[in-house]
Amino acid sequence: MLSLILVGAGKGERFGFPKAFLKIEKYPLYFFSLRTFLKFNEIKEIVLVVPAKRRESVHKELKTLGLDNIKVVKGGLTRSESVRNGLRNSRGDRILIHDVSRPFIPENLIKRVIKSKGRLVVPFVKLYDTAFEEDKLLKRQKIKIIQTPQKIERGILLEAFRRSRGKNFPDESTMIKEILNVKPVYVKGSFLNFKLTYPEDIIFLKTIWRGLFKPVIGWGYDLHPLEEGRKLYIGGIHIPFKKGAVGHSDGDVLIHSLVDAILGAIGKGDIGTHFPDSEKKWKDAKSEFFLKRCVEIMEKENVIIGNIDCVIFLERPKIVKHRKKIRAKLAKILKIPEEKISIKAKTSEKMGIIGKEEAIASYSVCLLFQKTLPPFSSILKTMS
Ligand code: MG
Repeated sequence: MLSLILVGAGKGERFGFPKAFLKIEKYPLYFFSLRTFLKFNEIKEIVLVVPAKRRESVHKELKTLGLDNIKVVKGGLTRSESVRNGLRNSRGDRILIHDVSRPFIPENLIKRVIKSKGRLVVPFVKLYDTAFEEDKLLKRQKIKIIQTPQKIERGILLEAFRRSRGKNFPDESTMIKEILNVKPVYVKGSFLNFKLTYPEDIIFLKTIWRGLFKPVIGWGYDLHPLEEGRKLYIGGIHIPFKKGAVGHSDGDVLIHSLVDAILGAIGKGDIGTHFPDSEKKWKDAKSEFFLKRCVEIMEKENVIIGNIDCVIFLERPKIVKHRKKIRAKLAKILKIPEEKISIKAKTSEKMGIIGKEEAIASYSVCLLFQKTLPPFSSILKTMS
């Protein structure tokens, strides 16, 4: 039987805080490698080792994710102690040990490790940079950079721990080589399987994370007539002017075009499908409500906003002095930084219905990112 021990009990001394609990969006770091391992039916048991005081909260978190088959055990003061605790709580005769701080382990690498025969299977990558030890140039062709997951026969792992007398080792293969002189079977590792060590490594993490998002783009347009005695709303902000947009709702062209752009990007129809003007309840409705609904739809569809670019067409008044307020308002509703929103305005040089101040129009383009992470339910499986 093959068990997996996921080690995430480190204090994160070089990192600043325990890495296992770094959250990317709503996902804790430990979930990233966990979700990849969950795809392997060969793994019959998973033990997650976390700092003692986090044990309860992680247990609860996994339960809410529907992953209550995973054992959560407390770690020790050292890596070796943590792995040892994990081992005590596992039953497999072969054990995979993996660092939670290597979140992007490729499936192929897990496959290679599982398939390789040997009492001690260790993935490695080559060193590409020039390296010195003191003044001595090292032969980099001969250097192996060791990674996890390592697959280890339970017997030799137990024996090595027994004889280690509490000594700490950077990884289990080093301990077993040193104490039992067992030669590892090496398999090709992966640079994607990097170890998050320093705070700046978050840059790599975010870059790869973004790779999990599929870009989708949407475009929207709207026009409303202008009439005296109506209030003018642009981007949810009241703009003092003698005329305002005529419409079923408050006639906010900027928000209307933006709603259409967002709905278009995710293939969810348009503003008319969601808020038909045949319905009384949208009469004189504040358009920011439509945008708030879009935020709910985006959350449901696992979509985040990349950026938004809008152009408003109107002759008067000048929008430039209201731009800051409009951006701030939209950013608040959409729950994104203002830098992601661009608002521009154009006149029509006194030509046409815009130029004659008979109408106001707006175009919006938005780039969204759709997560390709599967929902938790799709990766669930029964583990005996
Ligand atoms: Mg409209």
